[in-house]
Amino acid sequence: MRFKPGLAAKVTKHIIANKIRNNKRFSLVLMLEPTFMCNLSCEGCGRIREYKRDLHKVMSVAECLKAADECGAPIVSICGGEPLVYPYIFELIEKLSKKGKYIYLCTNGLLFKDKIDRLKPSGNLMVNFHVDGPEKTHDAITGLKGTYARVIEAIKAAKKKGFFVCTNTTIYKQTDINELKQLFKTLQGAGVDGFLISPAYGYPQIGEAFFFRKKELAGFFRKLEPEFKKYNFLGSPLYIEFVQGKRELDCAPWSTPTRNPIGWRSPCYQLADKHFATYKELIEKTDWKKYGPKSKNPRCVECAVHCGFEPASVLEGKSFRDIMTLIGWQFT
Ligand code: SF4
Ligand code: SF4
Repeated sequence: MRFKPGLAAKVTKHIIANKIRNNKRFSLVLMLEPTFMCNLSCEGCGRIREYKRDLHKVMSVAECLKAADECGAPIVSICGGEPLVYPYIFELIEKLSKKGKYIYLCTNGLLFKDKIDRLKPSGNLMVNFHVDGPEKTHDAITGLKGTYARVIEAIKAAKKKGFFVCTNTTIYKQTDINELKQLFKTLQGAGVDGFLISPAYGYPQIGEAFFFRKKELAGFFRKLEPEFKKYNFLGSPLYIEFVQGKRELDCAPWSTPTRNPIGWRSPCYQLADKHFATYKELIEKTDWKKYGPKSKNPRCVECAVHCGFEPASVLEGKSFRDIMTLIGWQFT
């Protein structure tokens, strides 16, 4: 099985229920950022730059739970910032779990070993470690020597304790394909259960030099084809075809709404044109036509990020071949 038992069934049931209700826009994954604070300052990070005046703000557990109820997504990805510096993280995980949510705890791993005793492996918790390359590259991106060694130690400790572990790797223009192949081999050796991979978004604050344009991206991802066959990638085959330039997809920013200490971020995890007080306002007051590649919005045309297009691949798969591909992928 590619995912935790029960997850694929829960998501499928959620999609069918919303389609029956004729809900045009509904959420699959809540991107919950209870804090912007982080113990790193990575070169490609948009968050710590965009919200530098609000880094001290945190959401209460009650606000986090309300956000989960408001949007109703079956999956909650706790990100940030670094969730393990959020003071109420264990209470939050426990209460989201009681609500039956599947939780991705997204972490840079630095504090994981210190806090592992407070975390229990459970049927619906997945730990997602951010690893951007082998030692030299990862340490260069995080700007701190020793971070790679610590995240690998954290991964091994998590596996030893019985957690479902995945990793998330962001692809930059400077990413070396051979290094990346070596990284997957190492991570597989460390016991990682599944891999997520996404091109970085071209934040203007960071500069063009770091980001692939779509054509270059397609070439890069085509060279990774043997790896997609060899390892357990969690991205759907339709999303992989999209980043390889083999199919078009529109993005579905509303399916992965972001809630942080400022409010509901509109329109997506990458862009922050507005923040709304409620999920209902986010859905009803965002002018969705202005976003996504079809809109020709210059901020969207070169975007291929996982959180915008992966859900679109699952929601848009319409042909018999697409549906069979998705079913086969979930159960292999
Ligand atoms: S670990 Fe994540 S949140 Fe922290 S600086 Fe790096 S990219 Fe940003
Ligand atoms: S294309 Fe990218 S930047 Fe534009 S709305 Fe979708 S996810 Fe956001």
